[in-house]
Amino acid sequence: MRGEKIFRADVAVIGGGPAGLAAAAAARAAGAERVLVLEREPLAGGILNQCIHDGFGLVRFGEALTGPEYAGRFLRAAEERGVDIRTRTMTLELTAERRLRTLGPRGYETAEAGAVILAMGCRERTRGAIQIPGARPAGVFTAGVAQYYLNRQNMMIGRRALIVGSGDVGLIMARRLTLEGARVLAVVEKLPYAGGLARNVVQCLEDYDIPLLLNHTVTRIEGERRVERVTVARVDEAGRAVPGTERVWACDTVVLSVGLIPENELALQAGAEISPLTGGAVVNGDLQTSIPGVFACGNALHVHDLVDHVSAEAETAGQSAAAFIRAGTAARAEDRLIPIRPGAGVRYVVPFFLRPGARSLISLRVKEPMSRRRIEVRAGGRVLAARKFPRLTPAEMVRLTLREPAPPETETVEVMISDD
Ligand SMILES: Cc1cc2nc3c(=O)[nH]c(=O)nc-3n(C[C@H](O)[C@H](O)[C@H](O)COP(=O)(O)OP(=O)(O)OC[C@H]3O[C@@H](n4cnc5c(N)ncnc54)[C@H](O)[C@@H]3O)c2cc1C
Repeated sequence: MRGEKIFRADVAVIGGGPAGLAAAAAARAAGAERVLVLEREPLAGGILNQCIHDGFGLVRFGEALTGPEYAGRFLRAAEERGVDIRTRTMTLELTAERRLRTLGPRGYETAEAGAVILAMGCRERTRGAIQIPGARPAGVFTAGVAQYYLNRQNMMIGRRALIVGSGDVGLIMARRLTLEGARVLAVVEKLPYAGGLARNVVQCLEDYDIPLLLNHTVTRIEGERRVERVTVARVDEAGRAVPGTERVWACDTVVLSVGLIPENELALQAGAEISPLTGGAVVNGDLQTSIPGVFACGNALHVHDLVDHVSAEAETAGQSAAAFIRAGTAARAEDRLIPIRPGAGVRYVVPFFLRPGARSLISLRVKEPMSRRRIEVRAGGRVLAARKFPRLTPAEMVRLTLREPAPPETETVEVMISDD
């Protein structure tokens, strides 16, 4: 295109949230010279900029930080290491050859990168995704949007609210709305267990006497201009509303916390394989996608429970990207990959493949709550990692470091759950 500027980067990181910032700083520390972060918002830090409550960084720093404080530490680390952070810069296109098209204050630009790190975070499922019947009045928000209005725009979104779905952001918003003087009537959850972390159920609902209605769903939203009434019903084991159990709640606000979806339009555009289990790219133990030189981390790879784990994972992606530039495409493309299979009760495992001889970190989620279990990572007869868990829930990500690498002759690695 005429007048278009083309520039080179060793590593281009798409997304300047905690994942992108940690990945970029780690890539620089591992020797990559020109490291670029492309962030569409005016401020780097990602979604943490609107998470003003504390509790971030307990694993990483042993401190309870607010979201902006936690993000600020990684922003400073990236800046100190000389990362070029370009805000208000949206990445519009990505090719398998690692060419990016961006739009920002400098106009349209094309970047040619030695390696690319996908760190675009996730987006929220909306009312359309769960198909709640009824009218379309104002007053229905996703939890993240509600959080943005309250915490970034200083705007109150309503006075009597019902929260639909018990994901972490919804639980946090139940408490936040209460602290701002709204009445939160209940959190309605279709499953027999909460979608969010146990600590959030206690600190955000129980401490404020907000009821959690498990096995319930919203069957109707009514209202002329603004939400006026919401009908809630119990569900059977198949998730269908049970006739005769309906209860009508008068309220003006519905907050949806019904799931997060990894943001991967650019990964798809570049032709990366996407997992139907995670919604993120299929990666190996180096967090490299099916496209050589393109890596993924953070919520764009799979939705995390704690940002501390996002940062650690992103550092692996940054180090891998720097190593990729050093080794070159050819050296990496020849590697044999060992598939990892999730056993019964395991919803997904990341990464999807291991390189023989590499000692990787494995993240997984279980399908349903269970207690007194042992998780083993096995390669044939060898146990590569094992740990006992008094309790496992889908809300909490499990992380296991392999104590020895998979032997070269391994066909598959399996992740198994057994009674303890
Ligand atoms: C609404 C919400 C609230 C949350 N609250 C909590 C909480 O209270 N506690 C907790 O532990 N965790 C919380 N989380 C989880 C938290 O998001 C993650 O732990 C962490 O922020 C994920 O980091 P990330 O960098 O992967 O994604 P994000 O923080 O989402 O950062 C992704 C960044 O990529 C940018 N981006 C995306 N696409 C492009 C593009 N094409 N071009 C340029 N930039 C792009 C976005 O603008 C964003 O800044 C919350 C998540 C959400 C969605």
